[in-house]
This record gives sequence, C-alpha cells and structure tokens, in this order.
Amino acid sequence: MNIKKDKVALIEYTLTNADGDVMDASDGNPLAYLQGHGNLIPGLEAQLEGKTTGDKFTTTIAAADAYGERVDTLVQTVPSDMFQGVDNLEVGMRFEAQSEQGMHSVEITAVEGDQVTVDGNHPMAGLELTFEVEVKEVRDATAEELEHGHAHGAGGHQH
Ligand code: ZN
Repeated sequence: MNIKKDKVALIEYTLTNADGDVMDASDGNPLAYLQGHGNLIPGLEAQLEGKTTGDKFTTTIAAADAYGERVDTLVQTVPSDMFQGVDNLEVGMRFEAQSEQGMHSVEITAVEGDQVTVDGNHPMAGLELTFEVEVKEVRDATAEELEHGHAHGAGGHQH
C-alpha cells in the first residue's frame, strides 16, 4: 500500500537543522499521521506521497514549506502588567496568547524594566529542516480517524 490522501502512515524520523543539530526524533516510537490532513508540514507530506513500507529517504525542506518564514510583526513589546499573576518574567517563558488569528504560543525574548518583548513565531519558523525518514507501515484510516482528521493508536492521538 502506498501513502496517499486518507491513508495512515507510521514513520520513524530524525529532524536536524542546517547546523546538523538534532531538533526532534521519533526514537523508536514511530509517529502515526493521516496523510492529506495537514498533520505534517507541507514539504514533508509532499515527500511522503506515494512512499510505501520500508522506504527510506532524506529530504531538506525550505522554511516556506516547513514552519514558514519568520514574521517580524509577530515580535511585539508589551507592558509587563499584561502578565498579571506571573511573578518573575524570564526570557524563554512561553504563554498562550489570544490574537485575531486565534490562540497561539508566544515566547518571551527580552525583559527590560516593565517592557517585555514577546515573539509569536513558531520556534522553527525561518529554518530549513532536514528529515531522515523511514516508512514503517501504511494502512487504511478508520472512519473515526477520517472524521477527526488525525491518526489514532500507537504513535497517534490517544483519546
Ligand atoms: Zn481523534
């Protein structure tokens, strides 16, 4: 069976950045995903299309087809009293923020006096990513998986 829209695939993967640093890896626990439903970044889904069990490949994906380019307007400086109830604001803290595009995660990148700089870009935005992938299994999706838009069971959503 080949990977195509509405098939579930289990993949082992190792993700490295342009410096060769490992940023994420399945490490023996294959990821289960549903092809064609935006579960993976677009560039990786495109490479997996048509692959089958046992296929191995390495692909380098440009930022635009991964987590997108960095957007400067997602970096904002706000007064620290917007973080009510948080005692010690520190660089690296992450918060969920409400914006016109819905909830998204922001990270504090600077604290100066009562001014706090937050960055709403995805942590991997702007990065070219290399994936080393092995396809472990390809199967039909269940009706429930198709309804939910993601894979269930080992390596998928547990709920
Ligand atoms: Zn589900």
